[in-house]
Amino acid sequence: MLKDNIAVVRKNIELACERAGRNPEEVTLIAVSKTKPLSDIEEVIATTDTRDFGENKVQEMVDKYEKVSTPVNWHLIGHLQTNKVKYIVDKACLIHSVDSFNLAKTIEKEAVKRNVTANILIEVNVAEEETKFGVRCEEVLPLIEQIKDLPHVKVKGLMTIAPFVENPEDNRVYFRTLRDLSLDIASKNIDNIDMSVLSMGMTNDYVVAVEEGATLVRVGTGIFGARNYNLS
Ligand SMILES: *Cc1c(COP(=O)(O)O)cnc(C)c1O
Repeated sequence: MLKDNIAVVRKNIELACERAGRNPEEVTLIAVSKTKPLSDIEEVIATTDTRDFGENKVQEMVDKYEKVSTPVNWHLIGHLQTNKVKYIVDKACLIHSVDSFNLAKTIEKEAVKRNVTANILIEVNVAEEETKFGVRCEEVLPLIEQIKDLPHVKVKGLMTIAPFVENPEDNRVYFRTLRDLSLDIASKNIDNIDMSVLSMGMTNDYVVAVEEGATLVRVGTGIFGARNYNLS
């Protein structure tokens, strides 16, 4: 049952926090429900305290947002095209995947129209993988210096998707690099810029990510089981 899977993940987060001398309350588990039916989300809501769900496709997030029985926190974790911002700007509690000033400007424009403030993370391609979205580490500060002047866009921190590896220890260096970058930027006390959120760690490597300071972990397979993309 899904609640048992979540209990296992939460226990692992707790143990990782213990090893790292952290308070487990600093870490929020996002259940990544992409490709999974609404009934799975309803089961999680009915049987656990988890109220944060992650989706990577705009249309799918909007569908689930409209149909779910209880209001929950929706995280947009996938790549976001500027022409789709308008559908989610007032629905996502956090957009994890901002990687250009152009996208941030579009979010500002749509947020103004709906009279909301959009919370965002900067997606960082720490490992510099060619197949991944996100800015490189050295591009984060210049991007933030531009975004800080957008009054309806609030930078909350940084996000990364680490490489797919057999041994999660191989990703520790990337998580540590992201945390160091976040601390470095936080120390500059830039107006309108908050570095309190570190979104890192997935099923394969969330334990290492928590040890390295993650405040949001995004776990899909470890909760809902393998995804079948052929059906969706
Ligand atoms: C799919 C996805 C996840 C969850 O991946 P799992 O390996 O199934 O835990 C996390 N983050 C992002 C950005 C994703 O697209």
